[in-house]
Amino acid sequence: MSYDLVVRSRRAVLPDGQRPAAVAVAAGRIAALAGYDAPLDAVVDEDLGDVALLPGLVDTHVHVNEPGRTEWEGFASATRAAAAGGVTTLVDMPLNSVPPTVTVAALEAKRAAARGRCHVDVGFWGGVVPGNLGDLVALRRAGVFGFKAFLVDSGVPEFPPVDAGLLERALATVDALFVVHAEDPGSVRGSPPSPRYADFVASRPPEAERSAVATVVAAARRADARVHVLHLSSVAALAELAAARADGVRLTVETCPHYLALTAEQVPDGATEFKCCPPIRDRDNQDRLWAALADGAVDCVVSDHSPCLPELKRADTGDFAAAWGGIASVQLSLPVVWTEARRRGHGLADVARWMAAGPADLVGLPGKGRIAVGGDADLVAFDADAGFRVEPGLLHHRHPVTPYAGQRLTGVVRATWLRGEPVTGDAPRGRLLRADAP
Ligand SMILES: [Zn+2]
Repeated sequence: MSYDLVVRSRRAVLPDGQRPAAVAVAAGRIAALAGYDAPLDAVVDEDLGDVALLPGLVDTHVHVNEPGRTEWEGFASATRAAAAGGVTTLVDMPLNSVPPTVTVAALEAKRAAARGRCHVDVGFWGGVVPGNLGDLVALRRAGVFGFKAFLVDSGVPEFPPVDAGLLERALATVDALFVVHAEDPGSVRGSPPSPRYADFVASRPPEAERSAVATVVAAARRADARVHVLHLSSVAALAELAAARADGVRLTVETCPHYLALTAEQVPDGATEFKCCPPIRDRDNQDRLWAALADGAVDCVVSDHSPCLPELKRADTGDFAAAWGGIASVQLSLPVVWTEARRRGHGLADVARWMAAGPADLVGLPGKGRIAVGGDADLVAFDADAGFRVEPGLLHHRHPVTPYAGQRLTGVVRATWLRGEPVTGDAPRGRLLRADAP
């Protein structure tokens, strides 16, 4: 047997742990796993030595914004940034594109915008907003991976929030995964114009997350539906989630790199590049979030890549109340998480579980997110001991605004393969993914 590609690494991260291995690829799929030194006949035989080999990451929380807000970000720039960061599959959020993905026509408009422009594989979430319950079944049949809903103002007028009653009706309308932005508008206070980060955090307290998660849990329980809590920041919501999970309610939860790597204490006055919703909280909360990740109470880590025009970050005034909330980090997620994970004693296998297999399982992509025979040969050469300084000029996002500017991070992505071919940033080879219709 001759293979198209063999990649060898002394640190291959396989589903059963990290060990020296050779990964053989044929026709875009992983065809065999063998010992590091195994004689294998291949067109290309690449030996990474001590550079780690990871499964391509799956990032199920990315706002691409095209069409409609392509000046914020687009499929070409977002997917190039993704590939540079070791992400080989992303699932695009139904906002902040215009139109938002709340009808089949809008989904087709998005696919038309994405077609031929993607450097990694891309799937799509649909959205639930007041008035589109009648569109959900058709959207699901058209291949969305599930539906996003907001319980609080989304930040854009064309994607209004739902209340508990409408969420529950949506859960009963279609058998699909629902992903929820869980902050309770009743506990979110208007924040006065202020360059002080503490004023912003006070406007979105842990209670807002805790009570929204209680709403989500109650709805999931009554509808016997599958619900996923997006971007958990506060550990205040964890007890509620754990109790419901123990009861058999089908709940999962994600957190994001910025909650794991940045703290409220370090945000300088006026540094609105740190603004996101829910907010980055204090160091004690962060330690407890890591503990939850370590013990499996949090299922996965995804970027919530949420870019905007630089002027919307209001660096001119440093006003946290007026600035857009969102951190664009799809390219930096892996080194950001790895830097902190390593410091806390976690291994690459943990990171692969949180950032590749976990999100792949969330959206039902068994051929993604793990180095296993039969799966897509989406691979990352990750130099886990090398360091680099974050220079905004290294970023392929449309706008290089980042709270990580100037930070030293550990872990450099040396190469990314999509279905067995290196992603070079030239010809886009990403596919548009469809969830299997029920
Ligand atoms: Zn988001």
